[in-house]
Amino acid sequence: MSSNTRNQIQILGSGTSTGIPIIGCDCPVCHSSDPKDKRLRTSAYLTTSKGHKFLIDAGPDLRAQFLREKLHELDAVFITHTHADHVHGIDDLRALCFKNKKNIPVFTHHIAAQELREKFPYIFMREKLFSSERPVLGGGIPLLDLFEIPGEHPLVGDDFEFTLLPHGYFKTMGITHSKMTYFTDVASVPSETLDHLRKKQLDLFIIDCLRVSPHQTHLHLEKSLEYAKYVNAKLTGLIHFSHDFFHEELESKLASENFKVRPLFDGEHLFYA
Ligand SMILES: [Zn+2]
Ligand SMILES: [Zn+2]
Repeated sequence: MSSNTRNQIQILGSGTSTGIPIIGCDCPVCHSSDPKDKRLRTSAYLTTSKGHKFLIDAGPDLRAQFLREKLHELDAVFITHTHADHVHGIDDLRALCFKNKKNIPVFTHHIAAQELREKFPYIFMREKLFSSERPVLGGGIPLLDLFEIPGEHPLVGDDFEFTLLPHGYFKTMGITHSKMTYFTDVASVPSETLDHLRKKQLDLFIIDCLRVSPHQTHLHLEKSLEYAKYVNAKLTGLIHFSHDFFHEELESKLASENFKVRPLFDGEHLFYA
């Protein structure tokens, strides 16, 4: 199978809500010269074997990420939840709507859909704000169409599964596509979900790993590793890092685990069945 017919996920960002380095922080990780310690806000770009292109989350670094990766095509967007670091770049999708001359569907769970309408009424309630008598003026708006998951849409057929996971006062939508699962921003994962993923024999399990000590709304290293070991994917990739970790140091520490787990980094491409 040639590489362009395989499923591929590109890590656009692997950092927590502040991005790394953090503005004004004097710590050694924030001053590291290793490019893998520069972490934009967590998001990813999926290219399926069918050729469909999905963005997972539209954080504040979206523009820089698309320019860096030279991306200019997009069929749909998944929003995992509506925290600022996952949605505050959404207006930059304008450029893609204009270039490709089409509306872009946005898939999210029903709670997040309501939050998106409240946060961005000019995008998601545009029919109420604009009309032929009161047209959009100036630079235009992103033409995004909101779809609640689960729901029927030709772009999200049988090969996708969605799971609602706890994330503080929010719920995060976990995404499984074929043999890959992407769980960003989760406080915990229910045991029945872990059982299900273990049975799926994943190629790739991408999971939240904020920091070393426990956190109210995110997984910390010990917990991420416990889940990774149980799910037993061919590779577990950790994301959504704070400045607790030097990439290289964490990677060598994890090399001694008896299952394959490592930190992912911005710009990395990974393939799965
Ligand atoms: Zn986040
Ligand atoms: Zn979050």
